[in-house]
Amino acid sequence: MPENRTLVNDRPGENRDKNLYRNGEYRYSWPILIIGNLILHRDMEHMTDQKECKRCGTCCENGGPALHTQDLPLIENRSLSFDDLITIRKGELAHDPVTNAIEPVKTELLKIRGKKGSWACIFYDKNGKGCSIYGHRPLACGVLKCWDTDEILALAGKDLLSRLDLVKEDNPLKKRMIEHEQLFAVPDMKTISRTVSRSSKKTIKKLERISNKDLTYRSRAVHDFHLSVAEELFYFGRPLYQLLTPLGFTVRETATGIKLQFK
Ligand code: SF4
Repeated sequence: MPENRTLVNDRPGENRDKNLYRNGEYRYSWPILIIGNLILHRDMEHMTDQKECKRCGTCCENGGPALHTQDLPLIENRSLSFDDLITIRKGELAHDPVTNAIEPVKTELLKIRGKKGSWACIFYDKNGKGCSIYGHRPLACGVLKCWDTDEILALAGKDLLSRLDLVKEDNPLKKRMIEHEQLFAVPDMKTISRTVSRSSKKTIKKLERISNKDLTYRSRAVHDFHLSVAEELFYFGRPLYQLLTPLGFTVRETATGIKLQFK
């Protein structure tokens, strides 16, 4: 396994001096996701005079788009590959622009992944102020008009693509992906965020145990299939401990795995 792929020690003690966040994307902790690359309508109320895109890049920097069934050809013709995408699993917390609330996502979705722990789309070229895949950009980017959000709001949450739509039957990772989802489904994040406190020792221990098992499972798949970080984020989504950090959990690596604490 390449060094920067080690999240948890395969052999206890082996990586005693290594920091969980030392290398690779996992040193980052993502903020709560905003579904779609949509700027909230209420923020746009002052834009009544705007009639066209000013190429400010705000929508792309807020987050890459979710993929819809109409985007399948982009995968088939290889305009987009699995490692351009990140899986947002059912139950992960996200800011829903329609209800303007942070809620668990109702169905799995695939998004173009962000840069270095942010959700800013990897295809946004800040210096050139433009989309580097403009001719092949996903449907949601094409219909987004920040000054008139009706069309993008009508699309939000509909006809979404998931991993199962993209991973072919003969891909040996498909079985692992399904098994991982069965073993490590996203727990009830809303209840955790509402009820957990420093004194919830039992809950914290339980989450710590599952988080470590999740990491062990991933490490095996990464080892067996030589997955990059980006591929892992597609096949398995973010590790559970990463989903917990925005709720106030802190993570420490030890010789026997990660330790969770609640601030
Ligand atoms: S794919 Fe292009 S248009 Fe869509 S969010 Fe990314 S940079 Fe912006």
